Amino acid sequence: MPAILVIGSSNTDMVIKTRKIPEPGETILGGTFLMNPGGKGANQAVAAARLGCSVTFIGKRGNDLFGNQTIGLLMREGIDTGYMVKDPVLPSGVALITVDAEGENCIVVAPGANGSLMPDDLPENLFESGKFAILLLQLEIPHETVEYCARVASRNGIKVILNPAPARSLSEDLLRNIWLITPNEIEAEALTGISINDVDEADLAASKLAEMGVPNVIITLGEQGAYLKSGRFTGLIPAEKVTAVDTTAAGDVFNGAVAVAVAMGKDIREAVALANKAAAISVTRMGAQSSAPYKHEVL
Ligand code: ADP
Repeated sequence: MPAILVIGSSNTDMVIKTRKIPEPGETILGGTFLMNPGGKGANQAVAAARLGCSVTFIGKRGNDLFGNQTIGLLMREGIDTGYMVKDPVLPSGVALITVDAEGENCIVVAPGANGSLMPDDLPENLFESGKFAILLLQLEIPHETVEYCARVASRNGIKVILNPAPARSLSEDLLRNIWLITPNEIEAEALTGISINDVDEADLAASKLAEMGVPNVIITLGEQGAYLKSGRFTGLIPAEKVTAVDTTAAGDVFNGAVAVAVAMGKDIREAVALANKAAAISVTRMGAQSSAPYKHEVL
């Protein structure tokens, strides 16, 4: 099966459960402390690898324990980390997360080395090597790097999938080089100015993204499923009915799975159906990376 290249962020999420989220200036005693691997890039790479694809992940990490741990965890998932870059000064990305008894959270992200991954950090001829059929990108690394990767990859016939998260506007140059874009409702609104409350509005926003030059658009709609606009099919592809316990990283699992299905040569409509299945399994379990399903579970 053709290989997937993911270029993006990796973080260590440090979570403390508390009775309540502290007020400014307040110190409280919390409950359990958990440390989980995260970052949209790494999450999507793990989701794709668990579905049986050959995956290479490139990101920048610090010269520290968290960075070593990230590499170790990715390798354990069978992901090629040979091109990972080490920043000599900046620390690895971390997120400090407080979750209260109601499940409400409060998060501070320190991107650290993720914010310094530049085009110069990438190996020469990376996109010319013929090694990768698909490039999967998100927006947690510098925009300049995302634009560069999309431009050179598409020039070399690699299908570029952009998950435009977290929400922001995008340059025309970037949009021109994207084969598939996969915003959720909030990100789609940031890109189009159309707020999405129903399927008709999802269609409007998808049409606007298509007009901006992206041939395939998927707007993920949480428990409703995903709205696809492509040459062959336009419409809602409903989600699987499950009892959700934790929707963290549903979008990341969805994106990893879409990339795998496209790599397998599936039609994009089938790819969305498979991604709906993978993401539905992930929301029935706690966690981000850890909730991503394996191939046999989705089958
Ligand atoms: P994000 O996590 O980026 O906000 P969404 O909430 O749109 O993305 O979820 C992404 C995908 O995950 C959806 O398109 C759907 O396939 C699946 N999903 C999310 N929530 C549920 C749910 N409650 N039940 C079933 N599938 C879900």
